[in-house]
Amino acid sequence: MKTSTLFLLLCFSFFASTAQTKAPVKNYGIAIHGGAGTILKSDLSPELEKQYKAKLQEALDAGYAILEKNGTSLDAVEAAIKVMEDSRLFNAGSGSVFTSEGKNEMDAAIMDGKTLKAGAVAGVRTIKNPITAARCVMDKSPHVILSGSGADLFAKQCGCATADSSYFFTEKRWQQLLKAKEQEKLTPEKSDTLGSLSPQQNEFNDKKFGTVGAVALDRNGNLAAATSTGGMTNKKPGRIGDSPVIGAGTYANNKTCAVSCTGHGEFFIRHVVAFDISALMEYKNLTLAQATEEVVMHKLVKVKGEGGVIAIDSKGNISMPFNTPGMYRGFRKSDGKTAVLIYR
Ligand code: ASP
Repeated sequence: MKTSTLFLLLCFSFFASTAQTKAPVKNYGIAIHGGAGTILKSDLSPELEKQYKAKLQEALDAGYAILEKNGTSLDAVEAAIKVMEDSRLFNAGSGSVFTSEGKNEMDAAIMDGKTLKAGAVAGVRTIKNPITAARCVMDKSPHVILSGSGADLFAKQCGCATADSSYFFTEKRWQQLLKAKEQEKLTPEKSDTLGSLSPQQNEFNDKKFGTVGAVALDRNGNLAAATSTGGMTNKKPGRIGDSPVIGAGTYANNKTCAVSCTGHGEFFIRHVVAFDISALMEYKNLTLAQATEEVVMHKLVKVKGEGGVIAIDSKGNISMPFNTPGMYRGFRKSDGKTAVLIYR
């Protein structure tokens, strides 16, 4: 063989292999949730249902637009969450629920499946978009979780927009707190809804959780997950839920999947739900559908842990199981499949 032919062949195989490793992922996509709970068609007026669906669609589209333009899954999940945090419909950012002292204390987390880097904030009171604060913790600090006034201060120094308590106030959430307090007076033994181990005590004053989450796979094959919440109505001041706990409410790993949870946080923490799904895929070779089904519909149901998850794997498969009557949710994939759903 002539030297020039050999040279050409070598060049060809070099470029072919480079093209192979850099080939964009065809099946990219995004999934979101706006909380699971007792969401019944009879409870939502057609007008309110329309509002929820429109906002979910807006969040999906905001995230998908980034993926479509070859943006990162991290940017996509952050953008989708911000749309829902800015809406007063959901229990995240503006519209967050109240603690027993009538304050808003918000939690959020974001995780990069490529590097396993993660950032979270817990109990922030003044940050308009807690998810952006979580991103700042990941990108601009050596830490994973910041809490309370330290988190508020750090986020402000990072340039996150702040607001006073009136920005987060909604009459609907205030009424939920008053109702929860009424119930507490009537049945004090049953109203400790946060973290009780007794199945009998696993009763909610308001079962529409309303937390928001997003998971995405981008064109470069990178996964990301993000979750943001006001927590649970009438929670004790300082209570931290599963959402900002990496592995519990939020997890992403390029080897397996990205997961964002919603539901009764104490159960999701004890059962390390998001990581458990990833571990079942990694160690037991379960598919995404099998792993999410096992954790949400079997493990959690057994202990009466109510809620659901959204998850996407490294091939772009999406799973969204929940063990409550409803979960605000939606997905949009590069193969054109898309939906926005509420009920079972
Ligand atoms: N998981 C959240 C928490 O326990 C609540 C929710 O999903 O709505 O803080």
